[in-house]
Amino acid sequence: MFNATSDFAAPSSGLSGYGWTAELDELFAPLAEAGLTPGRLVRVDRGQADVAVLDPESGELRTVRADTRPVGSAETKDNPCTGDWAAVDLAATPMPAVSALLPRSTAIIRKGAGMRSDGQVLAANVDTVLIAVSLASDPDLGRVERFLALAWESGAQPMVALTKADLVDDADFIREDVERAAPGVTVLVVSAETGEGLDVLRACTPGTTVLIGQSGAGKSTLTNALTGADRMIVQQTRDSDGKGRHTTTTRELFALPGGGVLIDTPGLREVGLYGGEGLAQAFSDIEGLAEDCRFHDCSHRSEPGCAVLAALADGSLHERRMESYLKLQRENEWIASRSDARLAGERTKLWKARTKAVRGRVRP
Ligand code: GDP
Ligand code: ZN
Repeated sequence: MFNATSDFAAPSSGLSGYGWTAELDELFAPLAEAGLTPGRLVRVDRGQADVAVLDPESGELRTVRADTRPVGSAETKDNPCTGDWAAVDLAATPMPAVSALLPRSTAIIRKGAGMRSDGQVLAANVDTVLIAVSLASDPDLGRVERFLALAWESGAQPMVALTKADLVDDADFIREDVERAAPGVTVLVVSAETGEGLDVLRACTPGTTVLIGQSGAGKSTLTNALTGADRMIVQQTRDSDGKGRHTTTTRELFALPGGGVLIDTPGLREVGLYGGEGLAQAFSDIEGLAEDCRFHDCSHRSEPGCAVLAALADGSLHERRMESYLKLQRENEWIASRSDARLAGERTKLWKARTKAVRGRVRP
């Protein structure tokens, strides 16, 4: 019988549990020829990172501590972050070094709240942004919409997990409410306590997933239920006097037992809205309505032939949702106004190109 597929696998296929693909393998070929090893950043600290690599000699997966300064030291958008794919020089001295980062498919960026305007990348190469919402109390739909806009903005596919299903009887009823606030988004009902819905959740998130949501929403509990494994990294570092020393850190990226990868970084949990494209996607129902307004520059306040006002009048669009949309839009503009001139200019260009159908129609 034919077995032992691992004998026939590509050298880096052991990384597939971390999301490595044939496409990445091809992209990496020239770097491999240069003697570099592919790896995924599972935790990033100032100037260093823990990188999951396939040991070229033993063929085993292991985590190495690597110097990230060759690819960036300032807190810029291109700074290495959890989830990045990297080319690692394992032979570098005095410690392995990240020599290059592979292009990112998606990025989750923290907005510049009272800080530098260019934002900071919190997670890279994310396929699904899973928004945890507790069923223990009535969901705040405005908050869900804010998270959804952020998720769309990242380029990843949003998904909602209604958690703590064991605490309520009317989960499906609430689910319908949330679905109306989340066009194009799968809404699942789960319980880490009973295990309800976890198999479906696993099946719906085969790639790299980040978990966001309000404090107390059940993110840690869900993460533990999904990872089921120990979350610590013990590593050997060197003091300046050359003596060995053990440090223990928490990793922020986990290869899940049944496939898929979960990223859980503390900073991700309080991310704000950034930019405008995500907002348009989170409110695609309103955007779609606005296309039917008689006037191209309809403000949806009093114009005749306004499709948005008509939908509000006949109840197919809820007042609450419209208000939430306008509020988030004002917030976005405030963020944009705080940015420095160059970046604001860039963002406006992007904003205009991507949402030109919207801008000018719906203005708070
Ligand atoms: P986080 O702040 O989002 O990480 O939330 P936690 O995971 O710390 O959970 C907050 C609280 O909700 C804790 O007291 C958990 O025990 C509880 N909790 C989390 N998941 C469930 C669940 O599925 N069922 C019930 N009944 N409680 C849960
Ligand atoms: Zn209108």
